[in-house]
Amino acid sequence: MLTYEQARRTVIEQVEKARGPRAAANISIWDALGLVLAEEVKTDRDYPPFHRSTRDGYAVRAAEATPGATLRCVAEIKAGDTVTQPLASGTCVQIMTGAAVPSSADAVVMIEHTSRDGDSVRFERAAQPGQNIVPRGSEAKRADTILPPGMRLGYAELALAAQVGATQLRCASKPRVAILSTGDEVVAIDQEPGAFQIRNSNSVSLAAQVRLAGGEPVLLGNAADRIDDLREKISRGLREDVLVLSGGVSMGKYDLVETVLKDLGAEFYFDGVAIRPGRPAVFGKCGDTFVFGLPGNPVSTMVTFELFVVPAIDLLGGSSARDLPFVEARLGAALNEKPGLTHFLPARVEWRGTKPEVKALPWQGSGDIAALARANCFLVVAADREQVKVGETVPILLRKDTI
Ligand code: AMP
Ligand code: MG
Repeated sequence: MLTYEQARRTVIEQVEKARGPRAAANISIWDALGLVLAEEVKTDRDYPPFHRSTRDGYAVRAAEATPGATLRCVAEIKAGDTVTQPLASGTCVQIMTGAAVPSSADAVVMIEHTSRDGDSVRFERAAQPGQNIVPRGSEAKRADTILPPGMRLGYAELALAAQVGATQLRCASKPRVAILSTGDEVVAIDQEPGAFQIRNSNSVSLAAQVRLAGGEPVLLGNAADRIDDLREKISRGLREDVLVLSGGVSMGKYDLVETVLKDLGAEFYFDGVAIRPGRPAVFGKCGDTFVFGLPGNPVSTMVTFELFVVPAIDLLGGSSARDLPFVEARLGAALNEKPGLTHFLPARVEWRGTKPEVKALPWQGSGDIAALARANCFLVVAADREQVKVGETVPILLRKDTI
């Protein structure tokens, strides 16, 4: 059986091998948060576009602003003012943060390091050439690529696009991810379940995870544990980029997902991973559609989605596969786990100052959604560990949507 790292690598290799050019569309910058650029964004001019003062103070010739020297202040420059006059020898100009430094000036002295009497400004300490000035073009030159294709647009990337006037952005279309749950016991969330039935919570968590990952969920409801129903609904799912199934991949008599996929011509790359929860997870391809058969226990479904489906959505969406957000934390309560599988335990990390401390949460196993709703991370216990002591450094996988 593959380790989760090997299984992830398998997903990444297979999807990279198969992915072709993606459709793209022009999107308003106001709607582009989280989308992936399909085309580079270039600068329209140098940045900064002029030598920019980073302080309120006096623009000087550094060699003249020696300790105890006085210079005559001949002008004032505010941010946005047009600046054409060079700085004459023996003079200084009062300048504000964000304003253009006149030519011939090569330093800005902070106002705090000066004293003023009428037009006369006295300097307390030596000025260094270049101090408090960001030179024109030092952040980017005109026509530089500042955002490459494949970049996911967060708030800083959007601000950068705005800075250069790129208000329409060519973005890759989101991968479409069909979501199909399976199980005779599963009813739609707006129906009243019978005494021995359960609501389809997996469709809701999966749709949310697809959205968070940058995909477009396509809800296909639930299939009964019957070949005909599974076949019909799986076939519908095979029209999308990815099909994610929940349930029906364990060893039970009515776990028929793999059988049906095989009948439909699927090729499998793995059908089990050495993790708990999530061991029966299946990954394959059927026609042009990547298929994930995730175990139906809700926490298993959520964990295996984060580990294996997110990188596929990343790649199909035109970006690279994001690394798993691992952090190291101090263990706050001892652990005792069965060895052999890598465990992903619902856990809560708290930052005391800057030092993360983590405790696994009590839980009833992989059906316990309430435990995961209290968790903000998974505590990862390696397959060869049985006892882990308080104070040990342990890896945790952050639940990005909570932090
Ligand atoms: P399975 O993987 O089909 O053996 O299902 C394992 C467990 O997950 C069973 O207890 C199911 O009732 C539960 N389960 C399956 N599908 C869902 C679903 N869509 N929503 C919530 N729980 C589910
Ligand atoms: Mg089932």
